[in-house]
Amino acid sequence: MNTNIPELTLKYGREDSVLRRHPWIFSGAVHRLEAEPPAGATVRVRDAQGRPLGLAAWSPASQIRARMWTFDADTVIDADFFRQRIAAAAALRAPLFDDAQTNAYRLLASEADLLPGLIVDRYAGVLVCQFLSAGAEFWRDAILEALGERFPGHRFFERSDGESREKEGLPLRTGPIGDPEPEIPCEVREHGLAFEVDPATGHKTGFYLDQRDNRALLGRYARGAEVLNCFSYTGGFAVHALAGGATQVVDVDVSGDALAIARRNVKKNGLDMDRYQQEEADVFHYLRRCRDEGRQFDAIVLDPPKFAASKSQIDRAARGYKDINLLAMKLLRPGGLLFTFSCSGHMVLPLFQKIVADAALDAKRDARVLHVMTQSADHPIALPIPESWYLKGFVCRVD
Ligand code: SAH
Repeated sequence: MNTNIPELTLKYGREDSVLRRHPWIFSGAVHRLEAEPPAGATVRVRDAQGRPLGLAAWSPASQIRARMWTFDADTVIDADFFRQRIAAAAALRAPLFDDAQTNAYRLLASEADLLPGLIVDRYAGVLVCQFLSAGAEFWRDAILEALGERFPGHRFFERSDGESREKEGLPLRTGPIGDPEPEIPCEVREHGLAFEVDPATGHKTGFYLDQRDNRALLGRYARGAEVLNCFSYTGGFAVHALAGGATQVVDVDVSGDALAIARRNVKKNGLDMDRYQQEEADVFHYLRRCRDEGRQFDAIVLDPPKFAASKSQIDRAARGYKDINLLAMKLLRPGGLLFTFSCSGHMVLPLFQKIVADAALDAKRDARVLHVMTQSADHPIALPIPESWYLKGFVCRVD
């Protein structure tokens, strides 16, 4: 065991979550830290009795004071450690994707790939990186080098601009890394369809990769359907629906920039622009307008942004989900399909089911769940972290 590593001792009884392999150590759990290591440096974590629990990255500015790199105190945290974790993450994804069909996926999903604070998305030949914790920032050069070795010829773009970066006391940083610079925006393939992704200005790293499988599922149901795609962003669901044979698709989003990319995405795939419409509008208003005008659809997608960022916002979020689900059900023709999602980590599946059930009751419609959906497999769920199962969805047949 390397003896030069500062020792972090937990308060009595505060080791339970670490023993359950949850990687976060909150400030209130820390009893004592030997020495004053720089932000991001490695510390050895021990329980109050002095038993070693593993190694963590020290983060003095954050409420999450340390994040575990490993639960084995004998591991060495060095460049090779990151090389191995990256190799494991790449191996996990290898059987999932055939580049000819899909060349955009999450390569490193932070805690779910045992690398807290590190997100890397691959968009064809561009790796978009988010260093969101002091530990990830500390090892930035080693991580970039390991990624460069594993993905030769790929270029890099940084989106270290999340809210968590501020909580870690780190400056926000966005832009190309290294030479040559990546060509932005990128063009990627998803299930054989082409999409423009702008890592510089897009949401997250540019694309909602987690919805990949659910978009393909809509494509399978789309033949002959009139589809309303609410919270469309850059038209992922719309492109799959049109490619699947939808007769009409309406994308609704408040973001004109996202809709501009959505239009290009429909064109790029050679789809019939006459079947495609857009509404730059608030979905809550637009659904009411459709109701007042007596409009009807065969399939409706509801993929709203996170309504609950914390547990305390769950009640308000529940009202928001209920409102849009109720309105959408009223707009569906008998036998229509509702693709409804929540991406709030704090919204658990049984509660979401109850909200959708209540919406059906109030809409006076019978609804059955045909599919239960979640984030795609390149966004694994870390079992010790319940909120990492953040995306939930149902496909309901509404009679
Ligand atoms: N379904 C998309 C991702 C949706 S992300 C995909 O597959 O890519 C959520 C989107 O909702 C964002 O584009 C955001 O601009 C939009 N949005 C947020 N609040 C909105 C509102 N009240 N009305 C309409 N769009 C909204």
